[in-house]
Amino acid sequence: MSGHVLTLNAGSSSLKLGLFTAEAEPGCLAEGHAERIGKDARIRLADGDGRELAARELGEAGATHADALDAALAMLEEHLPEARVEAVGHRVVHGGQDFDRPVRLDDRVLGALEALEPFAPLHQPHNLAGVRAARAAFPQAIQVACFDTAFHRHHPFVNDVFGLPRAFYERGVRRYGFHGLSYDYIAGELARAHPELHAGRVAVAHLGNGASICGIVQGRSVASTMGFTALDGLPMGTRVGQLDPGVVLHLIEQEGMSAAEISEMLYKRSGLLGLSGISNDMRTLEASEDPRAAEAIAYFTFRIRREIGAMAAAMAGLDGIVFTGGIGENSARVRREVCAPLEWLGVTLDEAANEAGARRIDAGGRVGVLAIPTDEERVIARAAAAALGAG
Ligand code: AMP
Repeated sequence: MSGHVLTLNAGSSSLKLGLFTAEAEPGCLAEGHAERIGKDARIRLADGDGRELAARELGEAGATHADALDAALAMLEEHLPEARVEAVGHRVVHGGQDFDRPVRLDDRVLGALEALEPFAPLHQPHNLAGVRAARAAFPQAIQVACFDTAFHRHHPFVNDVFGLPRAFYERGVRRYGFHGLSYDYIAGELARAHPELHAGRVAVAHLGNGASICGIVQGRSVASTMGFTALDGLPMGTRVGQLDPGVVLHLIEQEGMSAAEISEMLYKRSGLLGLSGISNDMRTLEASEDPRAAEAIAYFTFRIRREIGAMAAAMAGLDGIVFTGGIGENSARVRREVCAPLEWLGVTLDEAANEAGARRIDAGGRVGVLAIPTDEERVIARAAAAALGAG
């Protein structure tokens, strides 16, 4: 075997890393997952089959993403001392207009990506902090950036534009769409295991702490619920989702809020957390007896249904729905609340299969319904291995 590739995927409150063989279809040797960074952080390291190798409560020592990365690399070194990292693949949320495929990171590219930080303030700074930390930890390794926007870069004009004066579009104020690595993986899974859906029109709902829906026709993204930033579309754990821009003007003019205050509220105190007043975490909301928790879930699932309807219109039909992401993969309740009222669209749900967490969960209706665990790390590992010349 040649060397290894390391993948880094820093979310808003999580950090995932993977160690893979540097082959065209990389083999996963280990995966690490730090969650609740900044608040009761914990980290778990597993082998390639998901068997736990080690777990640690980081507590105060897990205040930042850099802390979590240090701890994860130390655990990796302890359990896989033979690892020889030759390439590091990074998830980078925003690639702007220029980056429509993975790219080797150097100072110039890093500078261009730093300039995009205001477009994804919850993610891009963490992603780039990970790049800097990995360059310091593995100075000999190739560093490769893989973008969440790249999968969506070829949307038709009408799904790429806002109704603003045209000059803003030319300056890059357009719908980028995110979660592209996840959608790339799902499109690959459809091609591999569900070719009839891959050939058709599929609404893929990536439902995690961040949430979006992508319309995929014959393996290509044609529309996304996320727009210029990762704030638009579905309500999320703490993000507002679609909002009348007039509300923002009202907050400035009548409530006297500053841009920083509004930004903090829309990114960090809205969505499931804001509506429930309880938590941004779906598991906590599902376990709660508080009616506000049920209302927050009801709004979440209603908006998902609405957007699936919109995607059906954008794609001129609907052949499949795929649920993925932490909520999409695990919450039978969310999948049921989304699908049951969509019968008019040809959506059916096999209750037992849904409760059991099966991959195929439709009851044989016209629309195929699937729950597929996403694997952004694998998409990143493939790109990093390709940069090393594997395959
Ligand atoms: P992600 O950002 O993809 O890691 O997803 C995080 C979200 O998935 C959180 O809201 C979790 O509460 C939710 N989640 C994870 N496991 C479950 C589960 N078994 N049931 C409901 N929600 C879950």
